[in-house]
Amino acid sequence: MENKEHITRLARQGLLEERIEDLYDQAPCGYFSTLPDGTFIKTNGTFLKWLGYDASQLLFVRRLQDLLPVGDSIFYETHYHPLLLMQGFISEVNLSLRHQAGKTIPVLVNTRLVKDADGRPALLRTTVFDITDRKKYELELLRARKKAEEGARVKAEFLATVSHEIRTPINAIVGIAHLLRDTGLSPRQAELLSVLEVSTETLLRLVNNILDFSKIEAGRVSLQEESTNIRNLVGSVLHGFGAKAAEKGLSIRLKIDERVPEQVYVDSLKLVQVLNNLLSNAVKFTEQGHVAVRVALQEQTPGTVPVVFEVADTGIGIAPDKRGLIFEEFAQASAGIDRAYGGTGLGLAISQRLLGMYGSELKVESEPGTGSSFSFTLSLKISEEAPRAARQAGRAGAARGVRLLLVEDNKINVYVLSQYLANWGVAFDVAGNGQEGVEKAGREAYDLILMDLQMPVMDGYEAARRIRNMREGKRSKVPIIALTASAQPDYEGKLTASGINGVLAKPFNPEELYRLIASYGPVPALPIAGQAAAPHPQRPDAPFDLSTFDDLMADDPEGMRDLISVTVKALRQACAELTKALRERNRQLFTRWVQHTETSLELLQAKQLYATLEQAMALLSTVPVDPEQLELAEHLIGTQFRVILQGLAERLKPGE
Ligand code: ADP
Repeated sequence: MENKEHITRLARQGLLEERIEDLYDQAPCGYFSTLPDGTFIKTNGTFLKWLGYDASQLLFVRRLQDLLPVGDSIFYETHYHPLLLMQGFISEVNLSLRHQAGKTIPVLVNTRLVKDADGRPALLRTTVFDITDRKKYELELLRARKKAEEGARVKAEFLATVSHEIRTPINAIVGIAHLLRDTGLSPRQAELLSVLEVSTETLLRLVNNILDFSKIEAGRVSLQEESTNIRNLVGSVLHGFGAKAAEKGLSIRLKIDERVPEQVYVDSLKLVQVLNNLLSNAVKFTEQGHVAVRVALQEQTPGTVPVVFEVADTGIGIAPDKRGLIFEEFAQASAGIDRAYGGTGLGLAISQRLLGMYGSELKVESEPGTGSSFSFTLSLKISEEAPRAARQAGRAGAARGVRLLLVEDNKINVYVLSQYLANWGVAFDVAGNGQEGVEKAGREAYDLILMDLQMPVMDGYEAARRIRNMREGKRSKVPIIALTASAQPDYEGKLTASGINGVLAKPFNPEELYRLIASYGPVPALPIAGQAAAPHPQRPDAPFDLSTFDDLMADDPEGMRDLISVTVKALRQACAELTKALRERNRQLFTRWVQHTETSLELLQAKQLYATLEQAMALLSTVPVDPEQLELAEHLIGTQFRVILQGLAERLKPGE
């Protein structure tokens, strides 16, 4: 009852009418009208309030352009206004308006052109929304995303570091398991050891894959293209699977389209990694039949050639519903696969990401029980460099093989490497330090440079940097592979920064080295296959063993004497330096000399001495260093070096 009277009273006073003018004035958005030249002629209260002006300060005295910051004002003149006249309206344009006090307000603007009776532009009617909040949320969202991305990167970095670190102890386990084999095991012990070996190998593969994967995720992998002979590259990758396929009774087929150019620019290490993964899967998942590699050409466009690589097998195949899944990290087509075949489920995920860097992707076709085919297409640039074979034919006396420069100061390493290289028919020059390396690389066109990292006069990083900065285009682009004994902090970043293309870990694995070199040109078949399968029995407590030297120098007594005398000289120096470093308690120097001597000790299989050196290294890290222990270590090192040196001297005696 009371309400009714109240309402009647309001109606009488005219207060119930909602006036259009009020709605206009107090709307939650800004309204204004301008003349075609932008001069304000009408605005609502909301707009004035937002910008802190009185009507008298705007109407007929200012133009919209006057309230815009410089960038927006130019945008208004060049785009906004012309478009408005042309199409009669503008919607949802972001602008900033300047508040009377100076700050700017982000707004969303819609404008309509009103024409007069003759069809001429008369007025511009504009609605403005304040989007400060929206901008704030957008910014927050952006920040959150950046933070999440940063988090993912940090995680990937962490994974990369951890997996790198884990590799060292696993390598030790692999090595020790290998030694254990030769210690006269009972059948039961041998069986247990086999399980240990298989598990460690799997673990090592897993860690290597995680390392690769996390490096890609952390954005630490980039394409390094170089002129490459893809026929040779594919051939040598396939060559690597010959033994495994033969063991399973599988035939291997290779078909390369004749039109595929010999020399193209490609990141050969990554291409090899992808092909290796596909081939290892094909061989792994096939029990009978064949594995076929096909390299074909798709239609050519000027300058680039789309090359299709396909790896097909007649193996177990993949169920249709699993085909999408296998490219995800840690995914395998069925739960039992890892037990039956081994593997980590990372290979295809890594390959897929590597190909992604080329804008390409892996495709799979498969029929369970019949076989699978994996393929990808790379758009490659043809290299103008003459094919290697032709180039080399022109060089007298070096008709076959790769031309290689070895930059290494450690005489033993040089000696060992040179023996292998000579066996493989690889022509090579040696430089004793970085500076010499740079000079030689400037004078001669090499196919590949193997570069030690720590050297006197100029280290490998600096040398690589200088080679990359050479004026002559071709010489500055030569592939450089670092030879390194251990990972220093930030060493991967340093490698990339100095333009080094890849790394070969010391002590190097001859087969790996061979494959690497073979991917740079034609090299004769691998003569060392099988060597690793027949380890030499060694008396477990022998201070050293010359069987590796014997292998290396088979039928070359002259070479053997050379090798031994270089080794004797190197060991003498190492012994003196190590003892000195030990006395000075200089851990850094000591570690450096241990790394420097590692290859010799490995070749001599001087495990006891090596173990003593490692203990001494650990001792030097303790604080304070126990002087008695130190003395003992010095004594042991001295004695063990002496025993080896005497043994070697025996071999040098005439008549031996
Ligand atoms: P893995 O290390 O397990 O081989 P991959 O990522 O390379 O990891 O492969 C993932 C899974 O895809 C394999 O476990 C297997 O189930 C399936 N797969 C890959 N290649 C083949 C193939 N050629 N034939 C059958 N299955 C395959």
